[in-house]
Amino acid sequence: ISSQLGPNPCFLDGEKLSRGQSGKLSHGGTLYLVNQNHPFKLHYSLSSNGRGSNSAQKGLKAADKTKGEREGKESPSSPTPKRSIRDFFSTSPTKIAGFDIDGCIITTKSGKVFPTAPDDWKILYPEIQPKLASLLKKGYKVVFFTNQMGIAKGKLRPEVFKSKVEDILVTLKLPVQVFVAAGPGIYRKPVTGMWNHLCDKANDGVTVDKKESLFVGDAAGRPENWAPGKKKKDFSCSDRLLALNIGLQFYTPEEYFLGWKRAPYSLPDFDPRKLDSNARLYDPPSASLTSIKTEVIVAVGFPASGKSTFFHTHIIPKGYVYVNRVSAGKGLDKRTPTLHAHFYLVFIVCHSKCNNQNSGRYVDVAKAAGVPCRCFQFSATLEQAKHNNRFREMAPSDTKHAKVNDMVFHSYKKHFVAPALSEGFSEILQIHFVPNFKDSQSETLYRQFSEG
Ligand SMILES: [Mg+2]
Repeated sequence: ISSQLGPNPCFLDGEKLSRGQSGKLSHGGTLYLVNQNHPFKLHYSLSSNGRGSNSAQKGLKAADKTKGEREGKESPSSPTPKRSIRDFFSTSPTKIAGFDIDGCIITTKSGKVFPTAPDDWKILYPEIQPKLASLLKKGYKVVFFTNQMGIAKGKLRPEVFKSKVEDILVTLKLPVQVFVAAGPGIYRKPVTGMWNHLCDKANDGVTVDKKESLFVGDAAGRPENWAPGKKKKDFSCSDRLLALNIGLQFYTPEEYFLGWKRAPYSLPDFDPRKLDSNARLYDPPSASLTSIKTEVIVAVGFPASGKSTFFHTHIIPKGYVYVNRVSAGKGLDKRTPTLHAHFYLVFIVCHSKCNNQNSGRYVDVAKAAGVPCRCFQFSATLEQAKHNNRFREMAPSDTKHAKVNDMVFHSYKKHFVAPALSEGFSEILQIHFVPNFKDSQSETLYRQFSEG
């Protein structure tokens, strides 16, 4: 049974299938793809285990064979022939020429940023097709890597996007392998999941030569007015960062296809490669992290700035009692009588004008109990905290943390007021984010640039 997904009709023997229609094909029948252009003959046979198997034997036209396709050599009675990547390339694909799709291979016909319909696309530059064809001739495998978050968000149906990609490849008339990151996580550029999948599982067992490979994309971190007539700044840097994360040569589409000179660009302020896992944990270094006397510690810092991990590693083992944020105000009041017997630790996620009153309450409670109240301010920046949050989302082993919404981060930043001794704290410590990696795999993942 064959179903037509794309806009170009196919034919089952003489019967035309338009978009959405399905039809049956039996042994010896011919399927023509893209109008009458690409005939495939169906051979139906019983394999040795008795199960039926069918195989579309290639009966491609001469024009297609010159593009690197080899004639299928499977005998009609053999088990299902698996078409491997090698069927499409004359040499082993050790060299990868990677490309983004939107804004790199295609652009919208409508001129809008986002396509208005599945067919709202055109090839970006006429130079693209010959350039890709020459790469294939030089023994590169051409691979497209695209982020399509719209699929996870339910705004884009996967089969609609798939057929759009098929239309693009039909227009280019070239064999291209395509990877689509349909949601957030390790596969979404600039994180290297799609590339790793290609290298480990989808390159026919042939080791990829990174030094000989390259990547081209338009999300390159270029500023406003990066070239005459190019007023808009890049919406993202995810393509350049993908290349940086993998260690590939990177070009923008204009540099690669049109030969323009290198455009200026900026990288994100936060660079996860530079984070020192042996850095100093807190300031001032002369301070003592814990006290032998009862005290209250109020923690202030972005979500995902390392508060919980820090306290569980360095403070709670010393006998401190954790009071969480929701119950903090009330809980502490109720527990006041026992305050003398314990160390207390209070989390405040957002130290803002309104929350200052909250922390004021902790200071008052501590004062009433006759114990000092210190503040630990976690120094991680917004970008650092967001990176930590994305990393937590990606690490399959992390079940402790719930995903933090971007709005929470920005609200924190907007309302943040630095804690001051005038609020009644006896001491304020700056606690720095110093990563402690479980294994090399999680370090490799963490050291990659990520984007929201
Ligand atoms: Mg793009």
